[in-house]
Amino acid sequence: MTRLVLAADFGGTHLRAAIVDERGEVLFREDHPTPPQASPGEAVQLVVDLLARTVEASGAAPAAACIATAGLINANEGKVIFAPNIAGFRNVVLTTPVAQRLGIPAYIENDASAAALGEYRFGAGRGTRHLLHATLGTGIGGGIVIDGRLYRGAQGLAGEIGHIIIDPAGPRCTCGSRGCLEALVSGVAFAARARKLLEQGKSAVLKELVGYAEPTAVHLFEAAKRGDRTCEAEIRNGGHILGLGLGSLVNVLNPDAVTLSGGLLAMGEMLLGPMREAMGSMAYGPASGALVRIGELGENTGLLGAAAVAFERLEGD
Ligand SMILES: [Zn+2]
Repeated sequence: MTRLVLAADFGGTHLRAAIVDERGEVLFREDHPTPPQASPGEAVQLVVDLLARTVEASGAAPAAACIATAGLINANEGKVIFAPNIAGFRNVVLTTPVAQRLGIPAYIENDASAAALGEYRFGAGRGTRHLLHATLGTGIGGGIVIDGRLYRGAQGLAGEIGHIIIDPAGPRCTCGSRGCLEALVSGVAFAARARKLLEQGKSAVLKELVGYAEPTAVHLFEAAKRGDRTCEAEIRNGGHILGLGLGSLVNVLNPDAVTLSGGLLAMGEMLLGPMREAMGSMAYGPASGALVRIGELGENTGLLGAAAVAFERLEGD
């Protein structure tokens, strides 16, 4: 009989839980909106209740549970150091209450690290041994698989590829540094560039699209698709910078493949073309053979990532 795990994806808008088998099939799934005003104590209770209810409703007997969530996670201690989705969620151990309630081992993982292991096991990273995964969304996250195992580092914080510094004189990043990859190319960074273009009166198309709304990366891309050269140049430049960041990491890690997921992939070749070009131009020797692949897990990336982590933990060190 195939082994089952309980996987949870604690996102900014949704709290999802599912029963997943060893082939990455989602057998049962529950979906709840993330409560915007929950206190840390209430949030823990909510997660524990949802997971318990999922197990009960599915009638399954999972061997372990894993929660994937954004933020700084000390995976080795099961601790959320900081989570952007829940105000005041600092230094909270989430795994102990889950393990106590369900009576099975419980784990937690940064969502981008989990996504890397998910793509490695169930998606576009199958067949590789060494994998670099990048999540390209509101921010930039990453995960590293070495020799078929998730690389966590000393404190379980490894993979924060959004905070390598590309331009020390660049814009301020949410982490406090300047010119991080995430501060230059991400949903937030593209929105900031769109705002700048509007302030400078540089794009009539963008101005018409945005109207009185807050400019977003989607507006920037839409204007570029409508032929606005300035907006297109911003996205192409973002792709180039992304390529420099990922290319640097490829030279450090020499992975078999680089897999990508996240909302910015909707920008397609306008972003990915210059990215590949920059990666190729700086690849050191045969490192240029690292293939760039689009992730295959889609909206299940978080859930299947969490499931992959649970299976890896069950298999032991
Ligand atoms: Zn940063």
